[in-house]
Amino acid sequence: MSTYISESLRQKIIERDKSRCCYCLTSEANSGIPMTYDHIHPVSKGGETTFENLCLACRSCNEFKSDAVESIDPLSGDGTRLEGINAIGRTTIVKLRINNPVILIARKRWVISGWHPPLD
Ligand SMILES: [Zn+2]
Repeated sequence: MSTYISESLRQKIIERDKSRCCYCLTSEANSGIPMTYDHIHPVSKGGETTFENLCLACRSCNEFKSDAVESIDPLSGDGTRLEGINAIGRTTIVKLRINNPVILIARKRWVISGWHPPLD
């Protein structure tokens, strides 16, 4: 299984995901760190390198997600904290530590500055 992602496929993913992490919606411009390409269903578990199975992910989300495809479903929180609207969303937020204390401080500043959440 090839994990090579062609430049044309990369561009389609960037366009679809609007240069934002598909998990926490952090933009590349706000983070100042290039996004990674995440295999939603990991290659190690049979996932393919296709448009449908790839998304942009910030380094933090990608690192915490690793090759996970499941985790524990929690109940959610408040303000600058992200909340899942279903079991998959809630589970993803916990698994990727999307509401970790460091990012909550940064996200609060982004919200005050009008940089987050995205308007579209
Ligand atoms: Zn992220």
